[in-house]
Amino acid sequence: MTALRIAHLERGCEVIAPEPCLGVWVQGCSIRCEGCSAKELWSIDGGRDVAVAEIVALAAEEGALAVLGGEPVDQVGALFELCAMARDSGLGVTLYTGYERDSVLAGHPWIRDKVDLLLAGPYVASERSEKRPFVGSDNQTVDFLSPRYQSPPGGHSRCEIHLEKDGSIVACGYPDEKLAKMIREGFAR
Ligand code: SF4
Repeated sequence: MTALRIAHLERGCEVIAPEPCLGVWVQGCSIRCEGCSAKELWSIDGGRDVAVAEIVALAAEEGALAVLGGEPVDQVGALFELCAMARDSGLGVTLYTGYERDSVLAGHPWIRDKVDLLLAGPYVASERSEKRPFVGSDNQTVDFLSPRYQSPPGGHSRCEIHLEKDGSIVACGYPDEKLAKMIREGFAR
């Protein structure tokens, strides 16, 4: 059984891929961008192992999946199996990575065949931007690798807030500064 170290799975995400999807936040990131808003995902010690087949079964209920983090490519063996199984099941696959596009495609050429949309590059706080969907800073690249998602949607980066049954809040996508502050400090205050 191949498993991916996961921080969080979220159903019904609508802003992190071109179609509604299962969001898969992996645990562990070796890139460690200055200004990262997900530092709790850096350590590989947190999270839990989830079988690739289980993730694909959940994603099949949504029609697509987006893998983000954390750094998915740091778990490249399990990531390959996840993307391959999902694509072979007819699901859309969106992959976020903090590695640069050219180096990640050169090092892992299978991505061209098993990923529909690739968002690549580290988050650079000094280049923060809300002008484009899916990415948080101007240096990050957006590549549509298959005909499934043919053209970049217009508009700017978006964020959706999920209220969980236990009362917790999950933010998907890139909140603007005002919303990010509300999330950090709590909506009730
Ligand atoms: S790659 Fe993503 S999770 Fe890793 S440090 Fe950069 S922004 Fe944070």
